Amino acid sequence: MVSKKLLVIDDNPDMIRLISEIAEDSGFVVSSTTGADYFFSLYHADLDVIVLDLIMPGMDGIELLRFLAEKQCKAAIILMSGCDKRVLDTAKELGQAHGLRVIGILPKPYRVMDFQVLLEKATETDNVASSFSQEKAKPTVTEEELQTALNNGNFFLHYQPQAYLKSRRVYGVEALSRWQHPDKGLIFPDLFIDLAERSGLIRELTEQVLTRALKQYNRWRQKGINLNMSVNIPAGILSDLSFPNQIQELLDELNVPAKALLLEVTETGLIKEIKKSLDVLTRLRMKGVGISVDDFGTGYSGLQQAREIPATELKIDKSFVIPMMENDSARVIVHTALQIGQQLNMRVIAEGVETEEIRLALQEAGCRFGQGYLISRPLPPDIFEEWLKTADWNRVD
Ligand code: C2E
Ligand code: CA
Ligand code: CA
Repeated sequence: MVSKKLLVIDDNPDMIRLISEIAEDSGFVVSSTTGADYFFSLYHADLDVIVLDLIMPGMDGIELLRFLAEKQCKAAIILMSGCDKRVLDTAKELGQAHGLRVIGILPKPYRVMDFQVLLEKATETDNVASSFSQEKAKPTVTEEELQTALNNGNFFLHYQPQAYLKSRRVYGVEALSRWQHPDKGLIFPDLFIDLAERSGLIRELTEQVLTRALKQYNRWRQKGINLNMSVNIPAGILSDLSFPNQIQELLDELNVPAKALLLEVTETGLIKEIKKSLDVLTRLRMKGVGISVDDFGTGYSGLQQAREIPATELKIDKSFVIPMMENDSARVIVHTALQIGQQLNMRVIAEGVETEEIRLALQEAGCRFGQGYLISRPLPPDIFEEWLKTADWNRVD
């Protein structure tokens, strides 16, 4: 008989030992790791079972689930965590929405027997694995579906932390849209933002996102979690002269201070619309709302035009930050962006801080703020809260 293969990831070596023993007793060959890096290299397509700790310092299970979904993983997945059972349930649903076979959850502390039962379940349902998640090619979506989703409130937000690179204190989040499609599962923005822009539905989406994000801001504030909220907006909206007042009304209605909101607009979009947007940008600034030049460095016209934009922040695109250790021109762009930010008195944040090496290099270059997988992937709000409690990225200086 071919033996079954199980992979376990947990930051606690004792937990790994325990799981391994039980699984080996049940005839599994076990591989294990305490960190995400090894997880990615240990992962292979013929694993039968994956046991995943949802919340570990410096990383999170949710985005590991996304990785598994991208790999069209067919293994049975067991989620465990010391956190609230509600969080585990949400994660399970999320995994299933990704097309993954999440067969059970295991709140810690758990009984050995509970785990054995799940292992049996994994083995029983094994033969359905091959028929499962077959059609996981990237879905396509239509304008009608987008409209229906907007009407039905099928969009929601994940939040990715922004932190001081030196003290590791988290000070803000970026709200990123996700679409829960009833048949096609979880859809990421690369599949719908363009369509939303082309079809004009982006306006409605943006309004929903802004309202949702600011309500979340308030919910967190009530819990004593004070985080700036960054929201992506399409450049086109900046030629609408009524936009600043709309923002003001929303802030008033929800009683959110203007300075807590940062609107991210892409550099390319801003430059294309610069003449038409100056009025709106200036009025937003006067109200105290922050403006971030997103995807900074990718603008075709070069970095110098940033001077004309009344922004508060430059956000260096991840396409320069990620390769900055080995690519000279990427590094030059990162340094130039930092110089421009300093000259113009704008805060500079690096996107795509994936490794500790990058964090250090950025810090040495004088970059104080960062966002990226090293800190955390984007997370649903309740899991974000759990992450905040355990992450070593929220040390107060
Ligand atoms: P963006 O504004 O540049 O957002 C950052 C994207 O980079 C996010 O992808 C995030 O998950 C990803 N990312 C963050 N850190 C890292 C890292 O360390 N490594 C790598 N490889 N990637 C990282 P996501 O959520 O898929 O969003 C993609 C784009 O979709 C966003 O890019 C933004 O332009 C757009 N978008 C997302 N939500 C909205 C929205 O509500 N409205 C509008 N207009 N656009 C949105
Ligand atoms: Ca952004
Ligand atoms: Ca970007």
